[in-house]
Amino acid sequence: MTDLTTKIAVLGSTGSIGRSTLDVIAASHGTLSTAAISAHSNLDQAVEQARAMKPQWLVATDPVRASGFDWSGLPRETELVVGEDGLADVVSHDEVDVVVSAIVGSAGLRGTWAGLEAGKRIALANKETLVMAGPLVMQLAERSGGRILPVDSEHSAIHQAIQAGDPSHVHRIILTASGGPFRNHSLEQLSQVTVPEALAHPTWKMGKKITIDSATMMNKALEMIEARWLFDLAPDQIEVVIHPQSVIHSMVEFIDGAVVAQLSPPDMKLPIQYALSYPQRWPGPAEKLDWTRVQHFDLEPPDVERFPALELGREVAGLGGTAGAVLNAANEAAVHEFLNEQLPFHEIVPVCRSVLEHHDFDTSPSLQQLIQLDAWARQEVSRWVCA
Ligand code: NDP
Ligand code: MG
Repeated sequence: MTDLTTKIAVLGSTGSIGRSTLDVIAASHGTLSTAAISAHSNLDQAVEQARAMKPQWLVATDPVRASGFDWSGLPRETELVVGEDGLADVVSHDEVDVVVSAIVGSAGLRGTWAGLEAGKRIALANKETLVMAGPLVMQLAERSGGRILPVDSEHSAIHQAIQAGDPSHVHRIILTASGGPFRNHSLEQLSQVTVPEALAHPTWKMGKKITIDSATMMNKALEMIEARWLFDLAPDQIEVVIHPQSVIHSMVEFIDGAVVAQLSPPDMKLPIQYALSYPQRWPGPAEKLDWTRVQHFDLEPPDVERFPALELGREVAGLGGTAGAVLNAANEAAVHEFLNEQLPFHEIVPVCRSVLEHHDFDTSPSLQQLIQLDAWARQEVSRWVCA
């Protein structure tokens, strides 16, 4: 008998997107199954997930943590695989149909790349992969017959709305942004922000890195770059508007002026499921809008003076080449330093700009060059912090 279930490798299964993906799989009544999961530090949680989902593989990406861990709780049907090379092998396996790329940061590149090389469908949450190496990743997908479907809610919304017309008739896209917890903060207040304040996002519950990115609005900068490569748009075709309710997930404006939007409550289970069900739609576990209640949708332009990350995003989307990899790595390092209370909140964006301006720009870098620049940019941030 042919197996009709779609087998999913969930990279970063212990994170916020990874856990929501397992919820979507569990609610699919057998349409989807878990072929593989991966974890880095939360190994207890990964074993629990393996016991519930019975994947063929559990990949522990950190060899040091994996070697010191007691794996006796792992179910018999699950094979333990250790390290990043193992992750690349697992995603390429015939038993995997779709790869959900939900590892945070540039660490997500390896599994995404390997999945694409093997011609798989990639449900891409890890926007950093496209920010770092957008043109190379899109070329690889084209060559290998792999396909990238966005999980990021804005890009999923664009992907859904764009189907209302011909892609060549898109005038521009409008990415919505909640504005984060400091939407109404003055510059003076932004210089006093603490880690717990920055981690308290008003509408979305997410991992720490993207929560800080939302507070600086670097998340929207990264999403402009992500959209530029994913939908092959010019930077001036990408607008950002503040929408504090996070219900309108983004919009497409066509050449005749018609604007098509996608709306739903802020719940990542919907864009995750759509990336797995596309081109179909299924009933699913995502929360639904309550139309018996009064809904207020505010839309306002962003303040680029208080949130300079947005200009940086537009510039980098225009520059292409090595700029995305440098911005991405500098930001990852700066967020890490902020979370460790080594860098004030209001210096995150300036340090990114400084590292970007000091790098050796190249218009068409190799993947190897991008990986080297990623390491270089992180060192530059450490130098800034120690200075
Ligand atoms: P989390 O921090 O919640 O989860 C990150 C996952 O990555 C965990 O499974 C973690 O494993 C794993 N991980 C961390 N470091 C490494 C590493 N060096 N090597 C391998 N695996 C690693 O993040 P989110 O789920 O919030 O975000 C994941 C991605 O999705 C990000 O790129 C983010 O930008 C994107 N995204 C997230 C959204 C959200 O709502 N959360 C919305 C849109 C996009 P462990 O926990 O075991 O250490
Ligand atoms: Mg998003």
